[in-house]
Amino acid sequence: MRAYERLINYTKYETGSVSDNSNCPSSMEQLTFAKALAEEMKSVGIQNISVDKNGYVIGTIEANIDDWKGAVIGFLAHMDVVRDVPFTNIKTKIIEKYDGTDILLNDDKNIFLSLKDNDSLKSYIGSDLLVTDGTSLLGADDKAGIAEILTMAEKLYQHPEIKHGTIKIGFTPDEEIGRGADLFDVKLFGADYAYTVDGETFEEVEYETFNAASANVTISGVNIHPGTAKGKMKNALCIAMEFNAMLPKNERPENTDHYEGFYHLDQMDGIVEKTNLHYLLRDHDLNKLEEKKTTVKEIASNLNEKYGENTVRVEIKDSYYNMAEQIKPHWHLIETAYEAIKELGGNPISNPVRGGTDGSRLSFMGLPCPNLGTGSHNHHGKTEYACIQAMDQCVELLIKIAEKYSKNALT
Ligand SMILES: [Zn+2]
Repeated sequence: MRAYERLINYTKYETGSVSDNSNCPSSMEQLTFAKALAEEMKSVGIQNISVDKNGYVIGTIEANIDDWKGAVIGFLAHMDVVRDVPFTNIKTKIIEKYDGTDILLNDDKNIFLSLKDNDSLKSYIGSDLLVTDGTSLLGADDKAGIAEILTMAEKLYQHPEIKHGTIKIGFTPDEEIGRGADLFDVKLFGADYAYTVDGETFEEVEYETFNAASANVTISGVNIHPGTAKGKMKNALCIAMEFNAMLPKNERPENTDHYEGFYHLDQMDGIVEKTNLHYLLRDHDLNKLEEKKTTVKEIASNLNEKYGENTVRVEIKDSYYNMAEQIKPHWHLIETAYEAIKELGGNPISNPVRGGTDGSRLSFMGLPCPNLGTGSHNHHGKTEYACIQAMDQCVELLIKIAEKYSKNALT
């Protein structure tokens, strides 16, 4: 079976994760999907399969080299999809030999996947694309990753002449709500290193994420009848606006790119008496993130000088860290992936992730875990699509990496 055929099957599982459900998995459909995957793993030949009550699925492809000793490599993908884009009743369609024009996804609703808005399409002219009818996501994020990992496994069992060491496979729930790593048992999984298969183009290898913190700013005001307020009122709403205006405007998400960090006001509520501002602080460089925290605190103390002590209170919490520092000591993970991509005719690229990944959490839990591509694009959108041949290339990439690790000693 080819990877895209698996992906089409998986679109039937409506696995949207639910951020306000604190259970794991956050939706029962994920557990149903987990059990179906375990069955499929069994039919492929994968051993030691387990599904725990939280929906984590793991399995092993045993080494096919006598007395093999080396680094055990793992491949991971997540089972959930985002819920804030329609994710049910997915209707897939194959565009054969894409000709470089705009793709009509939905005739009735006049929805297009246009070349001018989607640079990624350019590299797929002549290839076959898997799309939706433009009313839902495809769920290639990350079911394409699952499909590719299981297709890799199937190929390895069908071709025992491909020599490999022990390979671990893991499928996780609730990645889209940031909880995929929470209950992942790194020890039980038993890999020395792993890759998540959760990116876009087949040529990408991601190993840098943001360092992240949040700042909760509480402003206490003094309310009084506005008619007699002169010299007495302290309007928390106005002070909040003043606070926000003192942050650098060019360091907002909408004005930053690549390695530029930001201050992101993502929530505010208030009345004259009390106003709360909530910010996300992000930077790939940990020192620069610290500078951002200092800036926030300095603005607060300036306003406190102006309006009185404890008018503005700031609470800062770290959320996650850049995984690069965990990956760099194991640089062979990146080099091996680069070599494999080159051997398959690609030009490896590494762009900094402007967010966090489950892999970055896992890297700090002792499982260094960069991210590979899936051959799919426009994740979290109704124009999400996968390139069928790029998915095949991703399968080949996983096989090549497994082959290379059969020879790599533990470092
Ligand atoms: Zn994903």
